[in-house]
Formats: sequence, C-alpha cells, structure tokens
Amino acid sequence: MKTFKEILENRHAYAKDWKARTGGKVLGFYDTYFPEEVAYAAGLLPLRLLASHCEDALTDRLMYGNCYCTRDIFNQFMLGRYDYVDGLVSIESCQWWYNAFDTTLIEFPELWSHYLFTTDYVDARTSKDAVFSELKIFVKRLEEWIGKTVTDEALDNAIDVYNKNRALLRQLYQLRRFDRTAVLGSEVMEIMLANQVMDKAEANVMLESLLPELEARAPQEDGVRLMLIGSETYDAKLEKLVESLGANIVTDELDNGTAYILNDVIPMKNRLMAIGLRYLGKPHSALKDNVWRRRPEHIYQLYEDFQADGVIIAKQIYCHPHGSDMYAVWKLLRERNIPYHTFERDTTLPYEETKLGVEALISMIKPGMTRLHGWSK
Ligand code: SF4
Repeated sequence: MKTFKEILENRHAYAKDWKARTGGKVLGFYDTYFPEEVAYAAGLLPLRLLASHCEDALTDRLMYGNCYCTRDIFNQFMLGRYDYVDGLVSIESCQWWYNAFDTTLIEFPELWSHYLFTTDYVDARTSKDAVFSELKIFVKRLEEWIGKTVTDEALDNAIDVYNKNRALLRQLYQLRRFDRTAVLGSEVMEIMLANQVMDKAEANVMLESLLPELEARAPQEDGVRLMLIGSETYDAKLEKLVESLGANIVTDELDNGTAYILNDVIPMKNRLMAIGLRYLGKPHSALKDNVWRRRPEHIYQLYEDFQADGVIIAKQIYCHPHGSDMYAVWKLLRERNIPYHTFERDTTLPYEETKLGVEALISMIKPGMTRLHGWSK
C-alpha cells in the first residue's frame, strides 16, 4: 500500500490513476468551504488544488499582485500538470482564489465550471437559506454535467464517508495531545495534504490501518510544543524545520488542518441543508470571521487543549485575509502571555531566515519562560 507521503508527492499520478480505475471526472476546487460531499455524491473526485513551487515566467503578467499559492496553481495549469482536471469550482472566498478561477477559465474555456456562492457572514440568520438555495443550483448543474441524478442514497453515502474521514483525522490529531507524543507534525501535515487530493473512501482504509501503528509507537522525549496558525500551507517543510530544532508542531489552526476536520455533517432528512450547515458551522476562516469574532478564542482553546508552549504564525505574502485578521490574534496572544513568532513566506520556505526566527522562539521557551510563567513580565 502506498503511503500518504508518496501520494502527496505523486498527486497528479494518483488522480490520473483514479480516473482510469473509475471512469469518473475530477473536479478541482480551491477553498475548504467547498462542500465536497455533494461532488462526491455525484461520483466525482473532489480535488483540492494545491500549490507547489514551479518555475514561473508568466503569472506576473496575468495575475500580478495575487498571493503566490494562487499564482502557482494557475501556473501548474499552464504547465499542463492539471491536464486531467475536468471541471473547476470556486466558492465565495478571498479575491485571489476568485482571480485564479477566472484567469484559468480564460485560458481553459473548455473546463466545466461553477461559481458557488457561500455567504461571507456565515452566522447570519439567512445564511443557511442562501447556502441551501445555492446547493440546489449546484446539484442541478452537476446533474446536467454528469447526465444522472444525485440521489439521497448517494448523498447519505458521501456524508458517511466524509464524516468517517474527519473522525479518523481527529484521532490522528488526538495522538499529539499526549505529553510525550510519538507523532510528528510533519507526518500529520503530509497526511492532511494527501487526504485532500484523495478519494476519501480510499483514504479511510489507509487511515484505519495507519492509526493503530502510530498509537503503538514508543513515546519520545518531551520537546517544545508549538502551534501553527496562518495561511494554508502546501508541504511539511516548516514542520520538518521545527523538528530539526528540537520542537514539534502539535496542533494548528489552518484551513487545511484542524478547520477541515473539527465538525461533521449532522444527518437530517434535508441532506443539502445538513451539508450546508456543516460548512457554515465549521471553525471560521480568517476571511469569514468578520462580525462576531470567534477565531481568536478558538485558537486559544486549541492552544490549551494541545498544551502548546508557543505559536508560529506563517502568513503567505499578499494574503489579505490573514494580514487583516492578524491584529486580533496578536492581541489575544499578547494579553495571555503566549510566546509567538510571525513570518511571511510564499509557497517556498525562506529557510535560513525562518530558522533564525523559530530558533529564537524556541530558546525563549526552553528556559521555562512558558505561557504559565508569563514570559513577557
Ligand atoms: S493564501 Fe490567503 S490570499 Fe492566498 S488564497 Fe489563501 S486565503 Fe487567499
């Protein structure tokens, strides 16, 4: 059986192989507010488009000012790496995701496409009705595309598969709540990323066999426990750098990390409403945490639950959702004497510079100047 790491590294081959095995279509999406269950029920492979770091000679001309991850995903389309993708869907999210969607469709008008509106104010009284109505339109468009009906049975199956997937991934995260955890942050990130490009029924089989192995590992020496927050990431290089310095990332508040797995679809007769409520109720992303602020307290709760000693905030350059939300996160961390280090990156990691900053953070924490001792006093 292939490992998650191998699937992540060969994700285009995985998707091509899935198409050959199933005869199904691949639907690329950008943001984790996309209700994957609906596409899965239609027999599609919902594929999270992931940035890498390709040589880039053209996005400056076509997408100047976008964050690098959106540019890189478009660049991969231009380089032919996503030539197996049959359709694209964009949801209401940050403007750079939308620009990537739009620019890709200008260059590849043959792709099936859909814009799925998701309210920016997810807690509004009318949000559930708006999302339900959008999901009905989405299902209708999918049915026209694939030429068959999306049945209640298929939706129930998709809900079960995705709920199981999230439960298994939560078990994976739980393993790092132990004081002397044997599971590394880099391993978890590779699993999380691979999982987002996989057929979840296949990912579930792999997770069910992997979890007992991880649980049986011998505990390691206690190290500095860090939490990672900020823009989404696309590899585990930062986690590996942290590990090389004697620390471990034990939890995160990332769109493609805990925010992807913490809540489930609660089954109800109206399947689309149940799915819509799950996405509205998931931990707020920086972009959608815009009226009743929940995100800072949510970050603090995760920090406490996983007994982290400090926080790394990694922001993608030109990421305005995280840039504008940062002040509220910094305020909370300062008020509660939580050591943190903020840095900017694009999809690559500025290695030496990042190492210096993370080293400084770890050496502040090491002499016992932890949150409990009030490091800033
Ligand atoms: S990194 Fe930030 S700006 Fe870029 S797509 Fe993600 S949320 Fe949008």
